[in-house]
Order: sequence, then C-alpha cells, then structure tokens
Amino acid sequence: MEPKQYPPKYMGSMMGPVHTSAFENAMKQFDAAAKVMKLKPDQVAMIKEPRRVVEVRLPVRMDDGSIQNFKGYRVHHNNARGPAKGGIRFHPDVNVDEVKALAFWMTFKCAVVNIPMGGGKGGVIVDPTKLSLGELERLARRYMAELIDVVGPDRDVPAPDVNTGPRIMGWMMDTYSMHHGGDFIPAVITGKPLEIGGSLGRNKATAQGMVFCVREAAKVLKLNLKGATVAIQGFGNAGSFAAKLLAEGGCKILAISDIGGGFHNREKGIDPDKAIEYVKEHKTLAGFEKAASVSRYDDPLKLLEEPVDILIPAALENQITVNNATRIRPKVIAECANGPCTFEADQILTENNVFIIPDILCNAGGVTVSYLEWVQNRMGYYWTAEKVQEDLERIMVTAFDDVYETSLTYNVNMRIAAFIVAIDRVVRASEIRGLYA
Ligand code: NAD
Repeated sequence: MEPKQYPPKYMGSMMGPVHTSAFENAMKQFDAAAKVMKLKPDQVAMIKEPRRVVEVRLPVRMDDGSIQNFKGYRVHHNNARGPAKGGIRFHPDVNVDEVKALAFWMTFKCAVVNIPMGGGKGGVIVDPTKLSLGELERLARRYMAELIDVVGPDRDVPAPDVNTGPRIMGWMMDTYSMHHGGDFIPAVITGKPLEIGGSLGRNKATAQGMVFCVREAAKVLKLNLKGATVAIQGFGNAGSFAAKLLAEGGCKILAISDIGGGFHNREKGIDPDKAIEYVKEHKTLAGFEKAASVSRYDDPLKLLEEPVDILIPAALENQITVNNATRIRPKVIAECANGPCTFEADQILTENNVFIIPDILCNAGGVTVSYLEWVQNRMGYYWTAEKVQEDLERIMVTAFDDVYETSLTYNVNMRIAAFIVAIDRVVRASEIRGLYA
C-alpha cells in the first residue's frame, strides 16, 4: 500500500508534511464501529475490503503531437445494496490507497442515507490545470473507454469529484453511449449537464445536504444559526455552495480558503457572492485580498484553528491531524470533504466536545441527488427543483436522526454511530444475498 504523501504546500509550511494513509484511516474507523457492534469475523470478511481494484493506463495525444501516459483507477468497494456509486477525481495526488478509502466511504455513505447504491470511486493522476480543453476531453473519454466493462447503470455509476464536473461527465456519458451502439444511456453517470439528463439541484446538493445536517445539529446543540460564525476550507463545488447557503440562512462567513490561499474578515465577514464571482474570473481565490476587504493568512491551514461556531472542511483528506487537532475548537465540524479528520484527530476533537457531523453523513447530499438523477434517467421523467429538494431534505433529516439516535443508544460519537447504522445495513444485505459460488 502506497502511503499518501502530501507535498508540504498542501499541509502548510509550519507543520511539515503529514504522512497519513486515507485507507488506513478508513479501516480504523470501520474497526472501531465493528468493535462496538460486536461484528462477527465472517461479517467483517464480507464487507470490509474492496471487491475490485482496477488500474488503467491512459495514453493521450497531446496538442503538440506527443503521447503522454496517465494512470487511472476505479475501485468497487461493495455492491450488496446496489450498483457501485462514487465520483471520479482528477488530481496529481491521486493514488490507489486514496481511491480505495474513498470507495469504502461511498459504500457506507449510501447505506447511511439508505439509498440503494454501493460504493465505488475513481481517479486519474493528473493536474488538469496543465491540460488544454482538448487534452482534458481526450483523457476523460479514454478513461471511460478503458472502463467500459467496469461501469454501467446497473454495475457502477460514476459522478464528479475534485476537479471534475458536469462537462467531463457529459463527455464520459457520450463515450459510454457511443460504445453501446450510440444508444442514449444517461444513467451510466451522474452530475451531468441538465441538457443531457442532469438533475435540478445536483450542483448545490452536497452543500444543501450539509446545511440540513447543520440545522438538525443546531437543534440538538441549541445553537442559534442566525449570526453563527463559519470558516470554510476549500471553495469549489462543496465549499462555495456551503458559504452561499449558510450565509442565506443567516450565518456569518468569517474565513474561506482554496488552493490560492486563505482569507478572513473577523469583523464584517466575507460576502460569498463576491468570492464566487472572483473565483469565476480568476479560477482561484489567489489575490482576493486586493478585491475585497479581507486579510490573508500566512499559513492557510490556520483557517482550521479560527475560533468559529461551525468549521467546514471542504477540500481534501487528512487536514485535521494530531498536529493541529488540539487547537481546533469549533462547536460543530461539518465535513463536506471526505476524510478530512484522521482517526487520531477524531479522538482529540471528541474529548474536546466538538460535535462532528461525519463525512459519510454530512456530504451525502451529493450522492443522494445523484441517485435521484439516476432514478429520473431510468424513468425518462424529470422532476422540479422543489421535488428534488423535498426528497433530499427528507432523506438527510431521516439519516441525521438515525445517526443521532444511534450515538445516544451506544454512547459513541456521530462518526462511529454513522458507521454502526451503515455497517448494519450493508451486513444485512450481504447476508441476505449470501456468497456466490
Ligand atoms: P472542487 O474541485 O470543486 O473543489 C475543491 C476545492 O478545494 C477547490 O477550491 C480547491 O482550490 C480547494 N483545495 C485544494 N487543495 C486545498 C488545500 N490544500 N487547502 C485549501 N483548499 C484546497 O471539489 P469538490 O467537489 O468541492 O470536493 C471537495 C471535497 O468534497 C472533496 O473531499 C470531495 O470528495 C468532497 N465531496 C464532494 C462532493 C460533490 O458533490 N462535489 C460530494 C461529496 C463529497
């Protein structure tokens, strides 16, 4: 297993790089929940490890005529409850350890919100900012072509993740369809543009699901969301919609960051619309201090230590570690990102009474609306934004309640509780299906 090695720029210069394996972190989370549930060894054997790990080589003709080889992965963790479901990430740090962890979390994410999908994930080792649009399209199409027998509406339904979005989903859907005699097969992938079978509400779904969870958490914690202060790490799909929706709900966004740096305004707060406009024009938040009355953090990781009511990691894994966890004291951490806290950091935060809404619950709004998109594709009938929002709210609130009740029953934190709810559902489905051959 390759250890994940973040270059120092990702972890902040003050602490030096932290070497943490996302998959090992995921396994520790599983083991902790399995212990509380007293899971039997046979049950563990059926559901813990990924079912299938595929590595593909992706030769792409570059604009200068040369051929460059990229490496891609697709992992199916579990499909006992339905087809594998999970995003495709384009990032230079992608590695098989990370993709396995992300696929694992997808299995339990789908189970925690009780949608009939399993867990999958994909990734390509690439810095997409270094590719032209044509090169990006050829890479995306080649990735789908190499995985043509691995994916499918009843087998594995990919979606967007970091650095991929509707346009790439559209190219991949077209490639899959062309490999199937030119049929129109939108249900093979979700997060597509609306014009070719995307769902209304998908673009904000991850953040919207988080907002429903935060609202429910605020009720149990008796936290007034009007005027509650917020810091958000990552300002892409999840982070920017998180800022916008929370601000619309009366929260004050004190700090935001992305790959271009971290920014705060502790007195007046930051206007999310201004930041979104800025990123639209400049691609990242770099230089935002010149366009708005905000101050720049010397080390963007310091954003995580901002004394706010609600902290939202919405970037990458392993951001909250033993190195900084003791200094992170919000009332609530709402994990839009997958795996932002290491297992050890989790213990520290729990001891410090930080209420964590864990990733497999908190960011499940994305996969939930992806599931609704898949349902609409299969029916060929499309819903209004209101209908999608209504279903998302019902599913997220039910899931939050299930997890919160379980945390009280077992006297465990929300992460372990979410795994208990999810593992129970996956185990039951696996046992009912039994072993094939
Ligand atoms: P995105 O590509 O739209 O945005 C990622 C953001 O993180 C960008 O703003 C980028 O600049 C920033 N970033 C990268 N490295 C950073 C660093 N070191 N410090 C601060 N910011 C950094 O991706 P996204 O879809 O918003 O995904 C973000 C996270 O949310 C990922 O962990 C992803 O797996 C998770 N997630 C996304 C969805 C979804 O539907 N988009 C669903 C569930 C979970």
